[in-house]
Amino acid sequence: MRTVPVNASVYVEPSSVSEIQMIIRNEDMFPSPVRPAGRILSPSCISSNEGGTTISTANLTNIYGVKRVIPGRDLTAISCIDCEPGVTLRELQIYANKNGLEIPFSAEIGSATVGGTCFAVTKDSSIGEHPLKGMGLGDMASMLWSVNVVEDDGEVHEYCIFDGNGSYDCHFQNLLDSYGVTCIAVRMMIVARPKTPLTTIIDISHFQWRNEDVCNKKFDQIYQDWLKISSKHGNVLLSISLNSNMILLEHRLVGKTLFAPFSTVLAKYYTWKKKRVLQRGGDYPFILKILSNKLLKNSVFTRFHQQSRSPGNHYDMDIPRDTPKLSFTNVAFPIEKFQEVMTGMLGFTREYEATYNYKPKMVATYIVKLSGIRAAGPYSIKSSHVFFFDPTTDNPKDARFMRYVKAFNVHVKLLGGKPSLNQTLCLETDPTFGATALSIQPSSRFETEWLKRFTPFVSAKKRLEASSSKANAIAPCSFADNSRYE
Ligand SMILES: Cc1cc2nc3c(=O)[nH]c(=O)nc-3n(C[C@H](O)[C@H](O)[C@H](O)COP(=O)(O)OP(=O)(O)OC[C@H]3O[C@@H](n4cnc5c(N)ncnc54)[C@H](O)[C@@H]3O)c2cc1C
Repeated sequence: MRTVPVNASVYVEPSSVSEIQMIIRNEDMFPSPVRPAGRILSPSCISSNEGGTTISTANLTNIYGVKRVIPGRDLTAISCIDCEPGVTLRELQIYANKNGLEIPFSAEIGSATVGGTCFAVTKDSSIGEHPLKGMGLGDMASMLWSVNVVEDDGEVHEYCIFDGNGSYDCHFQNLLDSYGVTCIAVRMMIVARPKTPLTTIIDISHFQWRNEDVCNKKFDQIYQDWLKISSKHGNVLLSISLNSNMILLEHRLVGKTLFAPFSTVLAKYYTWKKKRVLQRGGDYPFILKILSNKLLKNSVFTRFHQQSRSPGNHYDMDIPRDTPKLSFTNVAFPIEKFQEVMTGMLGFTREYEATYNYKPKMVATYIVKLSGIRAAGPYSIKSSHVFFFDPTTDNPKDARFMRYVKAFNVHVKLLGGKPSLNQTLCLETDPTFGATALSIQPSSRFETEWLKRFTPFVSAKKRLEASSSKANAIAPCSFADNSRYE
């Protein structure tokens, strides 16, 4: 699925933490820069590595079990899964399910690794509640309780969401938007909760996205629906086909609220179709478009129950060069701007199409809850939630898509959007914009030429202070160091 060249002169797949320590310490044999890599599914150039050492976590795939952590004296214990960074999100979710648990974050793609998602931006229209009150919900980094990392001196350090005094640890928050530029995560505890049954309602309809009034009305209605659904801890995912003028909404509700007799078949079929569409970056299949028929709307054929969040799919890693495959870019905005930005960005796309005879294939939108304590990037936006605007292509090498992305970046920056280093493309053309995604100054052992473009504009101290003042404003939880694990 890789969409960008990596160009490392050394590629290594260590199978233990001590091997990683040896690699970091031995610069002669393993030249700088070193870059940690999961499955390299990130669509941006974040994994590019001109002549350095790429350290893959493909052999670090142990899951050590479920552990209970105690966030504070008055709070109940939380279950965490103790694992290594090369575990895929699918493997993690299946393991959680076998233990009666689930990870609230559920990406469409299950091949991404825990290590490749805990220090980078991910997004999912998650449902339910975070086991730890006040935390963000809808990205993998928000699921991290603690992490062991190998830093540039080759030593192993452990960081936890809380420091020894029971306050939010600022360095831990900085790590969540650090993209592995100071260390490699080698073992982590991922927060889980009891399985949460859900109902998904598919709503597909024709959508004249080139008409501004139609857009305004539609996005107002979606926003109002989302307000209602999210007040009951549900969520909405939407995708718009710019080719076939259709919009697909997934209303995700907590619990088995509606009669859904065909759940088993529908859930399986829908997940399978979605995998094919996503992997190829294609359009909705004909069978799905049938559901836009008025007779089928809100019928038992448009809804299904599931016992738990989906584990996501394992995608084929090698797709022949000439086969279409998904790539995308994205930027996040505060949820209050939903109607304005969605309508405005489709207006921008319409004008772009009129001038350059090109438009992306689809737009996907995810809504994520914020904690208010993140230091950089999309999740540092000041709001209760953010939504992503993700234009997609089925050809990552298409120069016309890249030209669109460059114009897109200029426009979204003006609208107050926030990018990420792993999911927003072409940031190298505006390093000050890209630098807003990075919470921490890279270490020289880990800093690639690509990263060097952004680092002059990263003010680590300022970010640390900002996150520290907000973090301290939240009532701290306390625990004695040795009472972290039951
Ligand atoms: C078809 C497709 C569908 C997708 N769907 C979704 C989706 O639904 N939701 C979503 O959020 N994303 C989605 N993505 C994007 C993808 O999930 C993310 O970009 C994810 O971060 C990639 O995981 P990875 O393991 O490949 O990480 P990589 O791309 O290898 O790495 C990501 C970043 O993490 C760093 N890193 C990797 N391992 C470590 C480590 N052990 N320690 C420290 N840093 C490390 C890397 O250096 C890099 O900065 C999709 C991508 C594709 C191709």
